Amino acid sequence: MKDDITPMPTTLSHILRPAHPADTAAVEPGIGAWTYAQLSDEVDRLAGLLAGTGLTPGDVASIVLPNGLAFLATFMAVTRAGGVAAPLNPAYTSQEFQFYMEDTDARFVITAEGEHPCRAAAGQVGARVIAARLDADAYDQPRVALTEDGDELRATREPNAPSHDDIALFLHTSGTTSRPKGVPLRHVNLIQSTANIAATYELTAEDSSLIVMPMFHVHGLIGAVFSTLYTGGTVIMPDRFSASAFWQQQRDHAVTWYSAVPTIHQILLTRADDDGAPNESFRFIRSCSAALAPTVFADLESRFGAPVLEAYGMTEAAHQMSSSPLPPGDRFPGTVGLPTGVEVAIMDDPETASFASTDQPGEVVIRGEQVMWGYHNNEEANQDAFADGWFRTGDQGFMDASGYLTLTGRLKELINRGGEKISPLEVDAALLSHPAVAEAVTFAAADEKYGECVQAAVVLCTDADAEALRAHCNSVLADFKVPDTIHFADELPRTATGKIQRRHVAAAFATD
Ligand code: AMP
Repeated sequence: MKDDITPMPTTLSHILRPAHPADTAAVEPGIGAWTYAQLSDEVDRLAGLLAGTGLTPGDVASIVLPNGLAFLATFMAVTRAGGVAAPLNPAYTSQEFQFYMEDTDARFVITAEGEHPCRAAAGQVGARVIAARLDADAYDQPRVALTEDGDELRATREPNAPSHDDIALFLHTSGTTSRPKGVPLRHVNLIQSTANIAATYELTAEDSSLIVMPMFHVHGLIGAVFSTLYTGGTVIMPDRFSASAFWQQQRDHAVTWYSAVPTIHQILLTRADDDGAPNESFRFIRSCSAALAPTVFADLESRFGAPVLEAYGMTEAAHQMSSSPLPPGDRFPGTVGLPTGVEVAIMDDPETASFASTDQPGEVVIRGEQVMWGYHNNEEANQDAFADGWFRTGDQGFMDASGYLTLTGRLKELINRGGEKISPLEVDAALLSHPAVAEAVTFAAADEKYGECVQAAVVLCTDADAEALRAHCNSVLADFKVPDTIHFADELPRTATGKIQRRHVAAAFATD
């Protein structure tokens, strides 16, 4: 690993200074590539332009771009200039963008040229829109042009270098309320998590990772991109996951590993024979962000001829908390492996901060340098989130005598649709804002492709059909949050005290 690189990186900028600057750092298939030296120079140049246009340390810049070179370079440039990068899912509606931009107090929005709902949101919150365009052919290497109102940014200023406890990344998690919680992550959190992931998989400069997860989420960004760059390897970043292009990309770029949610692994497996997938493929395959069924684990290993390592990650932990080890370590399907550089324990009662014994269930808690310091502007959530210095994950599980962690359920109300976390309360609120809806309860139902899907039960006060309600949801929520199925009822089941409990409603209505 990084034996030949000193000192240990303390901010994200340092991860672009490996021992071999001429090695390829990043490739966007069909578009272009940068060596480490080129990427580093480009990031410095863009950071100078952003500083020159008024981005000062601590300023938040939302990034609304697909995966690729422009995303990587602008992200690194914002943080290099001491700013806070706040990547957002480009599939959000304008209303969702507005919420996130307001909550982060975004001063800048970096997006592609052309129409996009994030522009209206930027207008609403008074953020300046900077368009990023990758000029792949105009120079001897790809170059990102930044423009504002059509004018290319040219003024440049030496950016202020961030320090290791400055905030670098701002993301949100779907909370137990309808308002997502802001998660500020510092350079130190990101570097520590990145180093832990690199150590888990013994990543080296020989590794090349095909990025199929979105870079606006910790899984793609930290789990795959940063961990690979940290060790001098190569990231292959198509703009999105394409099952039909996957194996060609794997061959073209001698990819040694990829990380994905179970839904993507399953898609690759289903098409493997038709796509001519090889029987010996990767050094390892990583699965994270949702439970991997033991049958899929077994099929993946036998079809693709590589060890499958399931990991457990979370935004507040700057991603990975545990993982199955590489061989010759043991991997047990159904477990999420061993803690990876962060302390993991099970509390049976977080109120008194008492720990469960071996094999006994409780709430998974974590402690370590990679863990966020607290939610943004949310004292109430912070009170609940920490117990005696440990961060409460909201996941339930147990640990066996060898330290292997098994997840058994969730205390938090979340729907995990193929790794995308959805707050049922946010969907309830969208349904309830339709004039025909008197009551609405959203819940997770089992789904073969996504593990869980979104369903809702509603009581109407006037006529409306499922299509109308779904169209209404679509106007305020990104597609992946819109209920796949809406059940209509005259009344919803209540407890003896008249309360509606989501799990009772799910039990009464959920369909496969
Ligand atoms: P996120 O913040 O989007 O990364 O989501 C974190 C949550 O995803 C965790 O708290 C878990 O509920 C879930 N999760 C992550 N990895 C796994 C896994 N391997 N198996 C089951 N659930 C997982």
